[in-house]
This record gives sequence, C-alpha cells and structure tokens, in this order.
Amino acid sequence: MSQNEIEESLNLLEKNWDVDPILRKFMLGKISDVSDYPVKVKNVVFHVPYLNSEKKYILWKCFWPDCHNCCDRQGRLPLTSDDLITIGKGLKYQKVSDFIKNETLTVTYRESGPSGQMTTMTTINLKRKKDETEKDDGTHISCRFLDDEGGCSMHPERPGVCYLYPFSTWLENEKGIARVHATYQFTGDCPGFYLADNLDQMKDELREYSKMIYDYNMASNRTNREGFGSVSFS
Ligand code: SF4
Ligand code: SF4
Repeated sequence: MSQNEIEESLNLLEKNWDVDPILRKFMLGKISDVSDYPVKVKNVVFHVPYLNSEKKYILWKCFWPDCHNCCDRQGRLPLTSDDLITIGKGLKYQKVSDFIKNETLTVTYRESGPSGQMTTMTTINLKRKKDETEKDDGTHISCRFLDDEGGCSMHPERPGVCYLYPFSTWLENEKGIARVHATYQFTGDCPGFYLADNLDQMKDELREYSKMIYDYNMASNRTNREGFGSVSFS
C-alpha cells in the first residue's frame, strides 16, 4: 500500500474515530525511531513496534461490533486450501471446483514481504462482490457477506485473512522448526491501535491470536505459486 492510500484511509477513518496524532504520523512513515519488540506468546513471535521517542508500545484491540471497517474496506480476500473447502461447503457447494468457478477470482500481484523484499503472489480470492473482476483487485469494496448488524453472514466459516486481521503472519525456518511470526498491517483502516507503556493491556488478545495464528499457519496450504517463502496478506 502506498503512503497516499494509507493517508486516504486515515482521513476516512477520522470521520468516525479518533486517531492518535502520533500513530497517524507513524502510519504515514513520519516516525523512524522505532524498535521491533519481539514477544513470544506460545508458538508465535509477535513483532510489536516500540516508539523510542515516546517510550510507548503500539497495542491493538478490536472495536467490533461498533466497528466493521475491515469488512467495509477489504482490498482482497485470499483463500487458503482449507478455506476453499470450508467456505465452499458453507456456501452449499458440493464441489470445490464449482465454488472456485463461481465465487472466486484468481489474481497475481506484487507485495512486500516482512523484510521489505518484493514477492509475486498468485492467490485465489473470494469475490467481495458477485461481479468482481481483476480490475477491482486491491480496491476498497464493502464485502457482500457483511450483514445489517455488522456481522459476517458466513460466520464461523470466514476466510482466515478476515479473522486474523489486522495481523499479517509468516513462517520462518528456525533450525529446522517452523516458527510462526506475526506483525500488524497498518492500512489506515483500523481504529483499534493505541499507545501504551507496557504490553499488559493486550495480553488476552496476544494469547487468543497466538492460537488462531498458529493453527492457521500450520493447517493451511497457501495457494500462492510463486515467490514461496514469506507471505503477508493485506
Ligand atoms: S479489526 Fe479493526 S477495523 Fe476490523 S472490526 Fe476490529 S477495530 Fe474495526
Ligand atoms: S468474508 Fe465476512 S469477515 Fe470477511 S470481509 Fe467479508 S464480511 Fe468481513
């Protein structure tokens, strides 16, 4: 995502939510004195940003059901192999191939991985609107499964990227063991980020997401075909 896109998202977000001016500056890349504070929670290493000038950590909590911005502004919904089966069944398809044909769109795009390297990705994505085409990929479209109460009509069969948001996750080889890592995606769409002196307030979220992130990474074969190595869905 470009800085302009993040700024546009933040401007929209600020119509309904207060965004800490320091966090705004950070998300726009205007604060560079930032350390990566890795926290291992069970089997996942979370990379929490620490703003040295403020002596604060960036933490997160979700405001749902008061907020459903991520479903209103999803740029893309890549599906894993597991997602294809569970969501296909949830939408009453007998055959995965029919689900793929009718409800998904395959796209190829470039995105930066966790250490900044560009990766070419090909993913099978759930269509966010019935007539979605390749030219809609990456644009903000309100998801067709968002119901009037702000919930997901597919729940509990949601794509992994939905329930992991705003985290992006990847695997690293740690001496022959697959270590799962997670960090935040700062797209400017989520009002849940805040500054704090320590990690205490986020302990419950870290525990809950550690399990979800680990299971997601271990259970799923991702559908990317090129540039295998690290994945960051946005
Ligand atoms: S993750 Fe963020 S954008 Fe999505 S519902 Fe929660 S607070 Fe809103
Ligand atoms: S599939 Fe459900 S959770 Fe995912 S963006 Fe759509 S409404 Fe939201």
